Amino acid sequence: MSFTGTYKDLLVQNARRELDQAFGLKVETIASKIRRIGFSCTQCGICCRGCCTDNRVMLLQQDILTISENTAIAEFSLPFVPVEVEDALNGISDSSSLIPYTDKDGNVHSFGWMLRRKENGDCFFLESAGLSYKCTIYKLRPALCRTYPFYLEECELHTSECEGLGSSISCDDSLVLAKSVLDRYIHELEERILMYQRYEYFDPIDSNYVYSLERFKKGHVLYIVHDSEGTHRRCERM
Ligand code: SF4
Repeated sequence: MSFTGTYKDLLVQNARRELDQAFGLKVETIASKIRRIGFSCTQCGICCRGCCTDNRVMLLQQDILTISENTAIAEFSLPFVPVEVEDALNGISDSSSLIPYTDKDGNVHSFGWMLRRKENGDCFFLESAGLSYKCTIYKLRPALCRTYPFYLEECELHTSECEGLGSSISCDDSLVLAKSVLDRYIHELEERILMYQRYEYFDPIDSNYVYSLERFKKGHVLYIVHDSEGTHRRCERM
């Protein structure tokens, strides 16, 4: 997914427009929508486990700071790539989805960070005891986890799959949740704008395609991550 000058300006412009509209949203209105939908966490742990849904947690810069400043864990984040790219890198789906994300030197370009997962696909921070599950960084958990299953897109409230939807929620709890949902949305848009502004163009893959796929199969992936702070190179063994 490589983009140049004019398209980059357009992306910044659109994201700025969305951010201006987001500043006009009212917490009370979002809270009343949340009450109408209804929500109560059943603590099933499904959203954190690898067995059932897409449990990838995209991280904001403030999530990364909070976790790294308050824990001794260094390696908790990974470059974020769409599911189809991840599946192609793992050899379980068609490799053509890699093309827009791979440059002519065979590096895979990623846009942002996500939480690392264990080998079984569960979140790195999920602890299980029998049939119950516990988040080991509950108080420090990322904004996406704090607001799940709600999120804002194009200034509209949306929900992800969750068995807790439809249950009643108190007025106070809905206001707290609505504030977190709106804060998260504003931070996401601010970071998206900075990412677009600092984005460095790359030449898409060409004849190196086959060579790169062979390298991926051997487990060598060099990611180049574009985020709100600029461009980072990071080596990963799959
Ligand atoms: S950080 Fe905690 S709440 Fe978020 S996915 Fe991991 S275990 Fe679940």
